[in-house]
Amino acid sequence: MTVQFSNFIAGESVSASQATANINPSNTHDVIGEFASGTKTDVDAAVAAAKAAFPAWSRSNPQMRHDVLKKASDEVMARKEELGRILSREEGKTLAEGIGEATRAGQILAFFAGETLRLNGEVVNSIRPGVGIEVTREALGVIGMITPWNFPIAIPAWKLAPALAYGNTVVIKPAELVPHSAFMLVDILNRAGLPKGVLNLVMGKGSVVGQAILDHKDVTAISFTGSVGTGRRIAAACVTSSPMKKVQLEMGGKNPLVVLDDADLDVAVDCALNGAFFSTGQRCTASSRLIVTEGIHDKFVAALTARMQGLVVDDALKSGTQIGPVVDPGQLKVDEDYIAIGRAEGAKLHWGGERLNRENPGYYLQPALFTECTNQMRISREEIFGPVAGVIRVKNYDEALAVANDTDFGLSSGICTTSLKHATHYRRNSEAGMVMVNLPTAGVDYHVPFGGRKGSSYGPREQGAYAREFFTTVKTAYTFAG
Ligand code: ADP
Repeated sequence: MTVQFSNFIAGESVSASQATANINPSNTHDVIGEFASGTKTDVDAAVAAAKAAFPAWSRSNPQMRHDVLKKASDEVMARKEELGRILSREEGKTLAEGIGEATRAGQILAFFAGETLRLNGEVVNSIRPGVGIEVTREALGVIGMITPWNFPIAIPAWKLAPALAYGNTVVIKPAELVPHSAFMLVDILNRAGLPKGVLNLVMGKGSVVGQAILDHKDVTAISFTGSVGTGRRIAAACVTSSPMKKVQLEMGGKNPLVVLDDADLDVAVDCALNGAFFSTGQRCTASSRLIVTEGIHDKFVAALTARMQGLVVDDALKSGTQIGPVVDPGQLKVDEDYIAIGRAEGAKLHWGGERLNRENPGYYLQPALFTECTNQMRISREEIFGPVAGVIRVKNYDEALAVANDTDFGLSSGICTTSLKHATHYRRNSEAGMVMVNLPTAGVDYHVPFGGRKGSSYGPREQGAYAREFFTTVKTAYTFAG
């Protein structure tokens, strides 16, 4: 019998009249469960509960908020194998990646448990005699969270943990494809001691549940991660709503990895292989543009291709798998369409790009490497979000930097070089929110800011202590003491 998963509103499990089947992309015969497909009525109830819970939670003792987050962290850590398996089963990243992501969620919760006790302000002298100024931070109110499918537990964790740490209440809508991981995280947080109504889960469609969250006048702020198109619509809705909503968007990337002639070839190939293809290339920080100088180009392409040929593409839960399936048929079609577009544009499909059959039916795609790409081609400009990367040959460092920066995105950017001069120059001149030297563009720490520039991000950074910029609002209080 298929397991049913309900929404969680005002401290209660709330069943829905409609549900969506969650299908394992590694084995489409495997139905993980039926997950509630929420409605506007569910969102209204969730926002009302979050609004009612806000006064007490926002003024609660930080020790209490610390203890809830710490307890939740401990449970996530204790159950990381189980949570990782749940995640990999619904999303398709390998079990090692799934367990790694669950671990990261636990680390994030522990970090923000500490942050509850560190929230501080400033005392400033006024220019007026006898007046004191105090600058403090306060919780915002009810935060609406809309999350994507590619990091099913880490992204909900890195939005929920700071929101709750700083005293906000929440309505979260996870992506339709991966609700199980968010369901587990919400359950763990609620059982760790959150008062009723502080954290509400409404699963379902973006066009229904997401839209109802956006439209609700009692939602103070929206934190969104997803595509640029949806992000733009969300930002527009936030500024035209009354009252206006604070908004934070994390969107796509078209991240460059520059490989210079003086790079350590093994390091460069490791960075490219990991950055472009691990997690099936379904990371907003994936290295999809490999910008390689002439002297190392052929050696780099040959070595990378050899490594790609050895990659094991198979069931995410099978031991030995290095690349899991694509998340669903829609994304698989996007990937295959871009492979066709790349060929039609004149890029050379150097290796891969074939559909693969495995023991069970799933959305398996051989990682694909294009060569002879230009930076003007659509495959170099548009985010594909699959295991597809293109090599752009350049003359020298200056051209590499110019090509790297010639993009509508600016999330992550990498360089492989043994030259201190070029590494330093690149760090300073790369127009991206995150720069990696001799490291893959994907793979970041949890205690430092995450975010980008241009079309990649909008609003304050996520993660680390910088998360307070979005999840709190500043108050400047003047007092005349006589
Ligand atoms: P992805 O390609 O990663 O699925 P989307 O931007 O389509 O990117 O989806 C990210 C999140 O935004 C998902 O939770 C999705 O349900 C939600 N979403 C999609 N459309 C809307 C919308 N019109 N309003 C609010 N949320 C939406």
